[in-house]
Amino acid sequence: MAGRLLIVSNRLPVTVAERDGGVVVVRSSGGLATGLRAPHERSGGLWLGWPGDLTSLSSEASSLVEERLGELGAIPVQLGRSEQQVFYDNISNSVLWPICHDRLDHLPLRVTGWDVYETVNARFADLVVEHYEPGDTIWVHDYQLFRLPALLRERLPDARIGFFLHVPFPNPEIFFTLPVRRRLVEGMLGADLIGFHTARYRGHFAATLRRLFRIERDADWAIDWRGRRVSIGVFPMGVDAAGIAERASAPAVSAEQLAVSTGNPRLLLGIDRLDYSKGIPRRLLAFEQLIRSRAEWREKLRLIQVAVPSRGTTRAYGKFRREVDALVGRINGDLGTPSWTPVQYLYASVPDHTLLALYRAADVMLVTPVRDGMNLVAKEFVASRVDEDGVLVLSEFAGAAEELRDAVLVNPYDVDSVADCIHEALVMPDPERRRRMRALRAQVMEHDVHAWAEGFLGALAAV
Ligand code: UDP
Repeated sequence: MAGRLLIVSNRLPVTVAERDGGVVVVRSSGGLATGLRAPHERSGGLWLGWPGDLTSLSSEASSLVEERLGELGAIPVQLGRSEQQVFYDNISNSVLWPICHDRLDHLPLRVTGWDVYETVNARFADLVVEHYEPGDTIWVHDYQLFRLPALLRERLPDARIGFFLHVPFPNPEIFFTLPVRRRLVEGMLGADLIGFHTARYRGHFAATLRRLFRIERDADWAIDWRGRRVSIGVFPMGVDAAGIAERASAPAVSAEQLAVSTGNPRLLLGIDRLDYSKGIPRRLLAFEQLIRSRAEWREKLRLIQVAVPSRGTTRAYGKFRREVDALVGRINGDLGTPSWTPVQYLYASVPDHTLLALYRAADVMLVTPVRDGMNLVAKEFVASRVDEDGVLVLSEFAGAAEELRDAVLVNPYDVDSVADCIHEALVMPDPERRRRMRALRAQVMEHDVHAWAEGFLGALAAV
């Protein structure tokens, strides 16, 4: 890639926090930020996105923040509070998220705000155009910015533009419930390269193109669109596997791991954002079923479930939280004894060293979403198991299942069978467990987040 890389995502990979009366800008360590840091910095590029709500900052603090962002190569998109609410809560989180995760039951009865979605995408376009220089490569991320590639194409006809979707692209039958289905797809087609995590999502997209525009993709997975070629690729995202393995080997992590694993009960682990796509209620029921059906596990097994607070301002999430709270309470009330709490439930974000200690302490990791674009937790668990031990139970409906064939694959809707599979995972013979984990590790180490970023950018440079 010759020119600079301009990355555009809804959120900037930073957190602005008030500390000691001043403000600090902290780089985020999320998967995308880690994966894109190298190409971003190598090319002297820019990252454009929303920095979080800064409306309460004094003008002095704001200019300090802007200066610090500038040093990090980050350009903030300014969004008003109500604009952000409609764009982010009402449309992106309450409509696009459930549709991409096959959850029509979560749609509001009446949707307004598509005009604001368009305006905010146009605001992003203004900012990109302002900073664009000929030769730059633009990489747009995710469902909040479906319209952006086309808005850029109108104004930068010769720019090299990529778009990557981090969530599933749903079956067209579900996608077609969107009144703006055509405009959203036209938005994506402004790009030269559109990337998905899996062949299945790409297939759904190709079927959508066929039905909307009667376009057939060619043998190279490209289409002709308004005088341009648009390529459609599969790029499964990975994690910073070597970095995770190194941090997971630190003495502090081992000490914390020992503290977690003291005592007799074997350990099942779930780590998810508290989101209805993650399959937490059925997972809890599978755990309950296992304990009820196999008495040998009573007081001998526990589940630590970390639920990371998420999207508190979106209505469906408050209701969902109460449902999970009630289910955990009911199961512990029914099954617990004075010396045994079957489910240890943490509604919290955990620090990196604790996350790694939990991954390392788990006998079986439960990743059982009812739908998930990729699921990086599954890959982080594998990367952290430098001891080549532990079993991954993984939903067929996670994008990661297309690659991690040596996990114990389950259908999360079949609660009884998940219960049986957890049992099988717990009693799996030593050689079999290690063989599977070694195979998983080879996959995760080779196809890491750096390979993903280079793969996408290489393909974009070639189109
Ligand atoms: N994670 C986090 N805070 C925590 C626990 C986990 O930020 O307290 C991270 C986790 O390490 C992973 C990410 O959140 O990198 C979740 O990514 P995933 O793809 O599994 O699901 P998403 O939340 O993007 O739907």
